[in-house]
Amino acid sequence: MASENASADHFSRGQWEPAVERFRVMVVGAHPDDPDFHFGGTASRLAAHGARVVFVSLTNGDKGHFSMSSAELAARRLAETRAAAKVYGLEDYVVMDNRDCELAPTLENRLALTGLVRKFAPHAVFTHRPNDYHADHRATSQLVMDVTYLLGVPLWCPDVPVPKTKPSVWYLRDAFENPRRMRPDLVVELSPSDRENLFGGLVCHRSQFFEWLPFDMGIPADEIPPADDAVRAREFIWRHWFRPRWSMDAGRFALAGEAFEIFELSEYGREPTPEEIRFLKGER
Ligand SMILES: [Zn+2]
Repeated sequence: MASENASADHFSRGQWEPAVERFRVMVVGAHPDDPDFHFGGTASRLAAHGARVVFVSLTNGDKGHFSMSSAELAARRLAETRAAAKVYGLEDYVVMDNRDCELAPTLENRLALTGLVRKFAPHAVFTHRPNDYHADHRATSQLVMDVTYLLGVPLWCPDVPVPKTKPSVWYLRDAFENPRRMRPDLVVELSPSDRENLFGGLVCHRSQFFEWLPFDMGIPADEIPPADDAVRAREFIWRHWFRPRWSMDAGRFALAGEAFEIFELSEYGREPTPEEIRFLKGER
């Protein structure tokens, strides 16, 4: 797994020095499956290459179900993140205790996220784009953008020191066209084993991919595979979410491969070095 040669921490002059530093990546999503859904394949590959990868969900995901109570659902989703974190090789999967569908870019959340990001001092941060169908995704994106500048302001949140590392900031893939289509600035082509890991983590989110989302999408209950059938479970997720996604992305971005995770660079973060981009793409 982690190569200690590429792992000790050091960062200077804004440049990642892979010989002495372990690359740190933080993926900030609104709900406890958003990082997995957009970054699971890349996360597992980066972790296998020695990176430290942390997923963050800014809400506890306590609304997306049709039969459980909010408290039961939040506890279940937390357990699902724990299981997925093991599959992806994450260092941590932080689930903040904001309620689902209620996230706002408040001062309190800005402070909390500042502390979280400063303590981990990631080289790269990934989050939703600012225009999105879900209010929590939009609030998450705004919080990350707000915090990106404030990370380097020492009198803001003085309890947590400003880290040496200023992160590059990236947007997770989406299909929205308004106000404009995302730019495929970073395309990570997923190998068969990356795909296995991606789906292996997603099937941990049983309450979402086999209960809430099929209910929300009107998929008949008799199409949903049983919990003990891992092969059908992975196929179900591929067929309903990833076959259309990858087909769309191959077409709209003229990509030659079969499976991708695609990201857009935000202009608010640090410019990534070519070496960092190669590492993120798994080309080291
Ligand atoms: Zn979400």
